[in-house]
Amino acid sequence: MPFVVGLTGGIGSGKSTVASCFQEHGAVVVDADEIARTLTSRGSPVLSVLQQNFGEDILDSEGNLNRSLLAERAFDTEVNTAKLNEIMHPKIRERAEQLIAKVSADRIVVYDMPLLVETNSQDLCDFVVVVDTDVEKQIARLVDSRGLSESDAWNRINRQASRATRINVADLVIPNDGTRADLINRCGSAWTRIIEQAAQGHPRSLST
Ligand code: ADP
Repeated sequence: MPFVVGLTGGIGSGKSTVASCFQEHGAVVVDADEIARTLTSRGSPVLSVLQQNFGEDILDSEGNLNRSLLAERAFDTEVNTAKLNEIMHPKIRERAEQLIAKVSADRIVVYDMPLLVETNSQDLCDFVVVVDTDVEKQIARLVDSRGLSESDAWNRINRQASRATRINVADLVIPNDGTRADLINRCGSAWTRIIEQAAQGHPRSLST
């Protein structure tokens, strides 16, 4: 098995920026959001389960998922968020495990997973990296770069684990409290640390 680094962080924390940086350093990125998009592509069986739970109209006339409408409904209440997670997460995990198993043992996989902690997926990982930023910066980035309203941004953040919960499972925290250039620099140092850890072997397989 390859060495698996779990990468997580709150929405708008800078996690995707870090994932791209690790990829440039040679990581094989397994992207949970991309898996979710594939699982919900037109005609896929999971779409009818989503429709039963979130309304017929979450598919447009061509059968494509209206992601923003689904997100609006799913993040509206805690019960709905839990429902979406129950439908999606076992499938995402299964697919991630399949993709990781295909990677050769001498590579480093970065499992880019926004809800790593919420779904206890850290047990798939040898090492966990958390990108950490304060909530005000998260909100500002979500409003600026994704066009979310401030209240939607708060809603999304409140449906995720707290910073403290995430940091609690981290082997390494990358603070994203400066410029993008600062973040890229920190990624470089984090990658050096990851290489050192990978050279020492797999804590996950040693403990099982
Ligand atoms: P995530 O994947 O955690 O949701 P992204 O990496 O997509 O977050 O970052 C969200 C937005 O904020 C992107 O447009 C990204 O370019 C920007 N961003 C990330 N870090 C910084 C930073 N330190 N300074 C300014 N903009 C940043």
